[in-house]
Order: sequence, then C-alpha cells, then structure tokens
Amino acid sequence: MAHKTVGVLGGGQLGRMLAAPAALLDIDICFLDVGEHSPAKQVVAPKSADKAHVNGAFSDPAKIRELASRVDVLTIEIEHVNADVLEKVEPAMPLGVHPAPSTIRIIQDKFIQKKHLRQNGLPVSSFLPVESSKEALEDAATKLGYPLMVKSRTLAYDGRGNFVMRTASQAFEALTVLKNRPLYCEKWVPFVAEIAVMVVRSTTGEVRSYPAVETIHKDNICHLVFAPLRHRDPAVADRARGIAEAAVKSFEGAGIFGVEMFLLENGSIYLNEIAPRPHNSGHYTIEACETSQFENHLRAILSLPLGSTALKVPAAAMLNLIGASNDLEEIKSFATYAMSVPGVSVHLYGKGECRKGRKMGHTTIVADSDAELRARVRLLLEHLPGPRD
Ligand code: ATP
Ligand code: MG
Ligand code: MG
Repeated sequence: MAHKTVGVLGGGQLGRMLAAPAALLDIDICFLDVGEHSPAKQVVAPKSADKAHVNGAFSDPAKIRELASRVDVLTIEIEHVNADVLEKVEPAMPLGVHPAPSTIRIIQDKFIQKKHLRQNGLPVSSFLPVESSKEALEDAATKLGYPLMVKSRTLAYDGRGNFVMRTASQAFEALTVLKNRPLYCEKWVPFVAEIAVMVVRSTTGEVRSYPAVETIHKDNICHLVFAPLRHRDPAVADRARGIAEAAVKSFEGAGIFGVEMFLLENGSIYLNEIAPRPHNSGHYTIEACETSQFENHLRAILSLPLGSTALKVPAAAMLNLIGASNDLEEIKSFATYAMSVPGVSVHLYGKGECRKGRKMGHTTIVADSDAELRARVRLLLEHLPGPRD
C-alpha cells in the first residue's frame, strides 16, 4: 500500500484516538485546529515541514485549503465545519473527502437531517420547522404537545442547543436561551432507554455495524455506555443495527458514523441523530472490539479492507471523565485509582484546563460477565469526582 496522508478537520480527543491506529498502520495524519497543542496535535510529530499540522479554525476557507494541499484525503472529527469549502476542494483531492460534503451538510442542520431520514423511510418522531417567535412555539406545542423539545438546527452538542418547553409560559425563556439560533421542534419521545450503533461505510457503499449499546446521559452529556445492549427481547438489538445500517446507507461517502436512537417501552425504535464521525458511544470499541471505530474509519476512507466489528469480550462499558470543577488534579487522581481496577483502561485527552462539563478523558471497562462488569463499574462510580455546585 502506497504511503498516504490523512487530513482531519478538528484536532480534539477524537483526532487523538484516530492517531493511534494511524501510527500502527503507518498512515501519516495532519490536523487542522485552532489549538497549536490541541489533544490530537500533541501525539503526532509531523514527518516533514510540508506535512505540518495547520493552526486555524475548521470553518476557515484558507486554512481548509492549506490542509487540503498537504494530504491525500480529507476527513472530519467534528461536523460543524465549512461544507461549502470541502465541496470546492474535493475534486482536487487524490482520495476525496469523506464522508461526502453533501452528507456533512445534511447532518449539520438537524432539521434537514430529520427530513432526510423521514424521506428515506426511516423511523423518526414528529418534528416541525419553527420561526423564532413566541406564537410559533406555542403553535408548534399545540400540534406536537408538551413537553415540547425545542432544538437549535445547527452547532449543537452535549444538549447545548436544546430547550424543553413544559408550558406555553416558557416560550420566551426558550427564545432567550436559544437566541440567534435557527430553530425547529420535536415531539417529546418517552423513551425507556437511549441506544446507539456505530456503522462503518466503505468507499464502495458496504456498511458494517457494531453491536448495539445502551447510552446513559447525565446533564445531556454521555456518561456511561454498556456494550452489548441487554434487552429481554434479543430482536431489539438486531433491529437497532438494521435501522442504523439503513440510515447510514442513505448517506454518501465513506467513514464511521454514530447513530443515536430512542428505545420505547413497546420495543419500537426512533432515530435521534447521526454523527458523521467517530462517536463517544463507540469509544468502547478500542478495547472491546476486533477493530476499533477509529481504525475502521481510517480503513474505510483509504479503501482498505474493513475490519471485523465483533465484540471480543463478553461485556464492556465506557465511563466518561467529565470535569466536575476546574480542578485537573481531581481527574488525574481518579485516573490513578482507575488503573488499580482490573479490566480498566484509562484514556486522558491531554486538555490543559479542566472545566465543569468538559470531556477530559474516559475509561473502558471489560469483563468476563455482566456481574463482573457491573462490580468494576460500581468501584469506578464510587470514586468519580462529584459536582461542586
Ligand atoms: P450530542 O452531544 O449527542 O451531539 P446534542 O446537543 O446534539 O447532543 P441531542 O442528541 O439532540 O443533542 O439531545 C440530547 C439529549 O436530549 C438526548 O440524548 C436525549 O436524552 C434528549 N432528547 C433529545 N431529543 C429528544 C426528544 N425528542 N424527546 C425526548 N428527549 C430528547
Ligand atoms: Mg448532536
Ligand atoms: Mg445527541
């Protein structure tokens, strides 16, 4: 295989984890990020000056072009990038842009994403476009009911961009919290669990899904992931994988996708949203699957054989290390404790500053049985730094 250089828009923890299998496969990797010492840049020393990382915003056209000129293929570790520029540079890229700029454009506007999924016959709950006015929100609530989920169409993450409107009197508050954002509304989904499936798509359109997992959120941020999903009806996990694969098939371009879903009491499943990149719910794959989500992303975009997505341990979990305060030492001392628990792998992202709610690292826990897994997770939870409000 000829030597290839991958250019990545974004250089955070996902890029850092992408760099590990890139080193194993002797693939060069170059990051575009404002941070000169961002988590991903810290772990990759460029081989030569013409392969240096680029310092700048992943929305900056000149910086995207600079990155494009240094690499064979462009990819992303965040979807909030300039899709127009990616479309313009695509014809000049020897191995293209993955996933396709058209895919990134659809996904980065959640309202357009939902319309796309519905048009492709995929299960999504009801949703409506809405103007940023009190009357429009009240009108949407009349149609969809309360609580009404009001969402920013763009630039959302970790629930920042969502407002749960419980009564008409909260319309003004919703507009204040989500000010200056284009909005849409979703019908409230009374889910019993949130589930997710990672899906990798090759340049020829082949898709392979990873096991379905349960994701548990705290304050709108992914807190815990359990793999595989345990449900009284084993058909639920297969159905989730089928829906996730169909959803990813409906998009163009190669790479890994994270598919977030809601599971209802009666076993039915709705799609929540799709991330066109490695995803927090797939971090467990590094230690628990035959090929990690990061390695399969590289294989997919470089037209290499896709790796097996099967679990190689009976049970796995992922616990995020979220900043509880500004104290980085809290995270470090938790990480040191976690190393003493069997089956636990610690990942620290190299972020210089800790902040409340910031993803600082994660731990993956593997075990021979669910009981052993839960006992190990319990030990970690007992030592996790708590909120200091
Ligand atoms: P992420 O960090 O995953 O990108 P995000 O900011 O894009 O998050 P969403 O995934 O849209 O936000 O929503 C965050 C959480 O809010 C979901 O994980 C789920 O718990 C809840 N949620 C979202 N939409 C609905 C809905 N229609 N009904 C009920 N709960 C919802
Ligand atoms: Mg999101
Ligand atoms: Mg989400």
